[in-house]
Amino acid sequence: MNTTPVSFLDLSAMHAEVADEVAAGFARVLDTCAFVGGPDVAAFEREFAAASGRAHCVGLANGTDAIELALRAMGIGPGDEVVIPANTFIATAEAIARAGARPVLAEIDEKTMLVDTAALEAAITPRTAALVPVHLYGQLAPMEEIQAVARRHGLGVLEDAAQAQLATRHGQGIGTGSTAAATSFYPGKNLGAYGDAGAAVADDDAVAEQIRLLANHGSPSKYVHTTLGFNSRLDTLQAVVLRAKLRRLEGWNELRRAAADRYAGLLADTELVLPVVAEGNLHVWHLYVVRVEVARRQVLIDGLTQAGIGTGIHYPAPVHLHQPFAALGTPGQFPIAERAATEMVSLPMHPGLDAASQDRVAAAVRSSLATGGATGAAGVVSAG
Ligand SMILES: *Cc1c(COP(=O)(O)O)cnc(C)c1O
Repeated sequence: MNTTPVSFLDLSAMHAEVADEVAAGFARVLDTCAFVGGPDVAAFEREFAAASGRAHCVGLANGTDAIELALRAMGIGPGDEVVIPANTFIATAEAIARAGARPVLAEIDEKTMLVDTAALEAAITPRTAALVPVHLYGQLAPMEEIQAVARRHGLGVLEDAAQAQLATRHGQGIGTGSTAAATSFYPGKNLGAYGDAGAAVADDDAVAEQIRLLANHGSPSKYVHTTLGFNSRLDTLQAVVLRAKLRRLEGWNELRRAAADRYAGLLADTELVLPVVAEGNLHVWHLYVVRVEVARRQVLIDGLTQAGIGTGIHYPAPVHLHQPFAALGTPGQFPIAERAATEMVSLPMHPGLDAASQDRVAAAVRSSLATGGATGAAGVVSAG
């Protein structure tokens, strides 16, 4: 049996593809010693806006800032509430709190683990100023439903698209019909920089301009400061990396889709509950998240770990079960999100994941669950 380890994520294979281009780009930047702004940042912004189908892209320091600055550009601050899904990375809630507003949680959909539109609408109060759906794991939330809710209540929509670069829904990219979309180029994201980076995309000229102003010390031109700003610019060296990787991103996402299809075949007859792609979505598979009965999860993770297979949990607790956000809900208040958090396991997923590695993952899933059944806790149920 082939026992080569299977890493959860392999950034080195992607780096190998762009290494020469990145080295040449770095040399160009080092020659000019222009490390902030410049033609590479401007070009990346144009290229990422075009790839997303939006009029504007503003390169920023990271994805959390992208959410915060977009909210601020939308005029959101103290006294406002912003509704987000209970199942997301903590940064979605942090950015709202940092803008001075209050995050309000909504329950998720059992099948997709994305925000449930009815729950989102039910969470709206007279103080609600915006909705922030999160395109978790690489597929878009049901934007046409969410935008209908937003229109009914006169609310802005900011998409957290940190995990969904180049994902589409009914052929439309991130930010379509919304005020803006925020994304992250953290190294492990589908489009990953070599350090922290992020961006906001928008069609509206004024929104994009305001985000740019906020990110650059509130400065429309040198030493003119018209509003209290931040320093959240995209580094030039990161723009070089992102340009090289963006050229390959569609192909890499295609490889992730092929890997997801293979997993679906390999794991179909196991007790795992496999991820569901919502109708109309082109998924980019940032993460491949399966679910398993809570009493079986540790058995599965231990078995995979022993077989040298990397796993993750995204995320072990919904937002209100983290100490800084304990005021946003009580344990038991979001039962679907809370149960999902106890059942989910992320399997290896990256563009370099080959069929042989996936065979090993599938074999290890089977053997760990078989062993788990024989030696595991009494009364453990199978069949998911
Ligand atoms: C990564 C991520 C962020 C934050 O991005 P950073 O660049 O790490 O600040 C926000 N939301 C989601 C859903 C993410 O996955």
